[in-house]
Amino acid sequence: MDIIEYIDLRDHTMEELKGLMAAMGERPYRASQVYAWLYSRDISTIDEMSDLKLEFREGLKALYSLTEPVIGKKLSSIDGTIKFETILSDGSSIESVLIPEGERLTLCLSTQTGCPLGCAFCRTGDAGAGRNLSLSELAGQMIAARRLAAESGDTVTNVVLMGMGEPLLNYDNLKRFLDILTDQKGFSIPPRRVTVSTAGLPAEIERLGIETKVNLAVSLNATTEEVRSRIMPINKKYSLKELLTVLRSYPSSKSRFITIEYVLIRELNDSLEDARRLGRLLRNIRCKINLIPLNPGASDGLLPPTEAQVAAFKDILYKSGYVAVTRLSKGADILAACGQLATEVKPVPLDRDIEERVI
Ligand code: SF4
Repeated sequence: MDIIEYIDLRDHTMEELKGLMAAMGERPYRASQVYAWLYSRDISTIDEMSDLKLEFREGLKALYSLTEPVIGKKLSSIDGTIKFETILSDGSSIESVLIPEGERLTLCLSTQTGCPLGCAFCRTGDAGAGRNLSLSELAGQMIAARRLAAESGDTVTNVVLMGMGEPLLNYDNLKRFLDILTDQKGFSIPPRRVTVSTAGLPAEIERLGIETKVNLAVSLNATTEEVRSRIMPINKKYSLKELLTVLRSYPSSKSRFITIEYVLIRELNDSLEDARRLGRLLRNIRCKINLIPLNPGASDGLLPPTEAQVAAFKDILYKSGYVAVTRLSKGADILAACGQLATEVKPVPLDRDIEERVI
């Protein structure tokens, strides 16, 4: 017996939907109608696309599916942060986090089911390589988050791509997702409220700068090649020097700037000499600096810095003219803070293309 594999309608951008409509002999405006149902409105089945004629809906159902995000475990922190698991159709799972902060509700999304980059301070890296998420799996997290937020009368205002995985290793799906995320007729999150965080892939950083208007965050975490290579193996392939060169030419504007993420680890990268060197390295890069004291749960016997050391480090950056903020990660009690996302479900094996590119 033949098994028919249906393609998820949410695996398509507006342009791609126009192609599908043409192939079905439908007029181009049908693509806009379907697109609005898929991303801007909240439906679970093709049957709910109530302004489409029955015959057209039946035609869509014969060719395409609409996969519902399946929520697994959900944990709430005492600080209001919610971590939720989404079970994917191949049995693997990912985690996403909703972080309330004043008027904002920020969704932290995953882009891979694990991470091949293996940063020493990150539990996701511990869990293994995983695979890239599809467009519908990226969109599914947004839809699930929107529903969770609506339960308490909230809406998602900001999105950060800082969850499981390295977003720029999944560039093509990321770019297609960002187009829908920031489109007023899609998920309608303004680009200035979207941040993509990377461990530092120079070519893709350049593409992101040119092809999108979203903000960039770079996980820097060291001021020498030696220390960075020790805690972030990706540095052996793309050096700190190469990374800083690409950041110097990253397009910036009043509403678009780079955030430098710096996880402070006791007696490894938190010395006052590191702070001074960081100030020198970042010269001519329009950025703000987030200092993140290492969270509990890190591997490799790494320890959080003392409060006094964090204050002294920050003071040196401040005196060098930088905006430096100490970011106390939210949701640490439910392992939802920076570097703590890792599902217990074993990720499926590494994609070939990732393996070839990283190792
Ligand atoms: S910090 Fe980011 S890039 Fe590094 S292992 Fe964790 S998820 Fe991957």
